[in-house]
Amino acid sequence: MCHQCNYEEMLLSSDLEVTENRLHVLEVIGNNSFPLSAGDVFQTLKRNSSINKVTVYRILELLVDHNLVVCLNSFGKSAYYGMAPNDNHLPHPHFFCKKCGRIDCLNPNSLNVDSSSLWKTFPGQIDGIEIRVDGICKDCIK
Ligand SMILES: [Zn+2]
Ligand SMILES: [Zn+2]
Ligand SMILES: [Zn+2]
Repeated sequence: MCHQCNYEEMLLSSDLEVTENRLHVLEVIGNNSFPLSAGDVFQTLKRNSSINKVTVYRILELLVDHNLVVCLNSFGKSAYYGMAPNDNHLPHPHFFCKKCGRIDCLNPNSLNVDSSSLWKTFPGQIDGIEIRVDGICKDCIK
């Protein structure tokens, strides 16, 4: 859970107009403790608003373009969305359960990957690093 991010300020500092829908999408992603698919974001938002799915997709794309949200592509069919690293959200690995498909955000300190030398020495352009830890979650192991 995160109550530290000021979503309005995040939009403004990315030169984005603050709209109710954009704020809601950021809020849902920022307050969640695991990454969400576009469908998940939509299901959560439609309980309290009349937002449609196309709008959700469009806003997610915009937020990814402006580096407020990251799109995680390594979890099968759907893309999943999480907060882009910022002062309140440090880069972290994700755990993927091979049985139920659940994805969890792991503690940023749980796996120490020092990528700074890679960023400095890689001859091309790096846009992001996704670290996926595979296994079976505690519920599936029971
Ligand atoms: Zn936050
Ligand atoms: Zn599982
Ligand atoms: Zn995460």
